[in-house]
Amino acid sequence: MFRLQDVSYLYPAAQKGAALNHVSVAVAQGEFRWLLGPSGAGKSSLLRILALEARASSGMVDVLGVPVMQARRGVIARLRQRIGVVYQDFRLLDDLSAFDNVALPLRLQMRPESEIRHEVNAIMKWVGLGSRLDALPPQLSGGEQQRVAIARAVIHRPALLLADEPTNALDDRQATRLMTMFHRLAELGTTIVVATHNDALVRKYPAHAIELMQGYLVQEG
Ligand code: ADP
Ligand code: MG
Repeated sequence: MFRLQDVSYLYPAAQKGAALNHVSVAVAQGEFRWLLGPSGAGKSSLLRILALEARASSGMVDVLGVPVMQARRGVIARLRQRIGVVYQDFRLLDDLSAFDNVALPLRLQMRPESEIRHEVNAIMKWVGLGSRLDALPPQLSGGEQQRVAIARAVIHRPALLLADEPTNALDDRQATRLMTMFHRLAELGTTIVVATHNDALVRKYPAHAIELMQGYLVQEG
């Protein structure tokens, strides 16, 4: 779950106005939300605040029951391990294999290597990359890199999953599989927010939406 109350966010180098203006939104555990709005509306900024990568300029932010505006760094670091993020630009580590990229969240949790091998093999097979475990990200296509990024975001069964345009590089069949996975994760209790421009996908998978326009919340629910 998460709750934002009257949250504004101004980039340090902002030239126009704030990226988010007095946004209040609450989502319960195990719920799915689309995050909609035109380019520049503030979707990535909102995800960055929920991913604890940016700190709101003002307002109240509660992520998974932790009031993050007051939280100490150690608390934030542990909280971050319970969040999975699919970045719009993937952000894979180019000198690590696909396998090692996906294994990272489990290695941070000091899980035994035998368990890591088992989990990573299973998720990579599920995203259709069972034969590309040793490939370096630059050797993979955009769609393949996006699927590695998705595998890395879900491998540690995060309580909160944030995905920024996660179907951009996927074909229709892969996008459908991804939505099936997201819905299954939500049923298992993961809170999920997916920013997208893909109107066809939103129509195919109707769900509640958080809609932004020029940094303002225009619709919730
Ligand atoms: P969206 O993801 O909906 O396209 P963003 O959250 O990326 O929107 O951007 C919201 C606003 O913040 C835009 O006006 C954008 O120009 C601005 N912005 C985004 N990133 C930065 C940055 N690093 N520095 C300054 N302004 C930024
Ligand atoms: Mg964006």
